[in-house]
Amino acid sequence: MEGRPFDMAKRLKGIPPYLFAELDRLKQAEVKKGVDVIPLGIGDPDQPTPENIVQAMHRAIDRPQNHHYPSYEGMPAFRQAAAGWFQSRFGVSLDPDQEIVTLIGSKEGIGHFPLAFVNPGEVVLVPDPGYPVYEIGTLLAGGIPYSMPLTRENGFMPDLCAIPHDILKKARMIFLNYPNNPTAAVASREFFDEVVRFAMENRLIVCHDAAYTEIFYNGEKPMSFLEVDGAKDVGIEFHSLSKTYNMTGWRIGFAAGSAQLIHGLGKIKTNLDSGIFQAIQEAGIEALSGDQSGVERMRTLYQERRDTFVAGLREAGLSCDPPRATFYLWMEVPKGYTSKTFCEFLLKKAGIAATPGHGFGKYGEGYIRFTLTVSKERLAEAAERIRKVL
Ligand SMILES: *Cc1c(COP(=O)(O)O)cnc(C)c1O
Repeated sequence: MEGRPFDMAKRLKGIPPYLFAELDRLKQAEVKKGVDVIPLGIGDPDQPTPENIVQAMHRAIDRPQNHHYPSYEGMPAFRQAAAGWFQSRFGVSLDPDQEIVTLIGSKEGIGHFPLAFVNPGEVVLVPDPGYPVYEIGTLLAGGIPYSMPLTRENGFMPDLCAIPHDILKKARMIFLNYPNNPTAAVASREFFDEVVRFAMENRLIVCHDAAYTEIFYNGEKPMSFLEVDGAKDVGIEFHSLSKTYNMTGWRIGFAAGSAQLIHGLGKIKTNLDSGIFQAIQEAGIEALSGDQSGVERMRTLYQERRDTFVAGLREAGLSCDPPRATFYLWMEVPKGYTSKTFCEFLLKKAGIAATPGHGFGKYGEGYIRFTLTVSKERLAEAAERIRKVL
């Protein structure tokens, strides 16, 4: 290697390469060979952003007042739109000035949040399998992640009673995510009530990642954690426009909840970033308060895809529970395979890219995650390819 060796900081050395970047490399290698790979790996909606939102962006970008530094905590009008959406969707009222902060996508807020509330050496409870950012945000803040297994026997909910007393004494925060990525589980009101009690007893901060509340099936709407009594006293909830409105590339979301927690996160953000391009916030206002028919259309589309793929997998001799929410399908791998060997088998023999469960944590071993972000025709073909090679 040329030049002076630059040693990465210790806090980065402990962090594995971001799972999805790694998988993309493997997939690209197959594509390069000319294989028609069906991409069921990465959770990025395939459909475009609804037209009314794109049009709002066109208008917003022409306004010179949007070309300056935005306000740190987000435009008041965006935070009001978020509060209005929250009220009509969940029946929860929020003070847009104190209880909402705009984010550069919810991943940004989730990743930064431990910097505001976790001291080095303090424990953070993280779901396993789980979205990698909970653990990584914890590590970057000098915290110690503690895995809470999500198992099929527990309906993919953590068993809070199983967390050892000495861990709880050092624990500062708990991350939760329902509807869940990758398991597609949906939390009940009883579970959220138990979480509030548990957080109060153990003086924990609850961080609930609610990126998938709008991707549901059969009209069964998942709830917000903030709907349960006492939630706002113990927690913060992260929302994203990415999955709901097919806006992953736009980078906009928000956090809502306890004013103190919002303030702490805001303090980190004020010192690290300078807010979100205002034109994007204006498009976000249209997303949250304009015509919602695009969201309904997406739900119908995902439902058809889900039903097609589950039926196809069953014909291939594989069994899986159809998800009640999210666009993920979490399936046990067939006997004789590990998550990794089954994924490699699917990629090399059937040209299907999926995500190995262990990439989401060690308790994800034995599972594979498929995403429903390709057409139902492609999903039918994927299931047929699997049937042929199994
Ligand atoms: C996609 C996803 C996010 C990130 O969403 P952005 O708002 O695009 O940053 C957060 N949490 C989970 C579980 C996700 O799957």
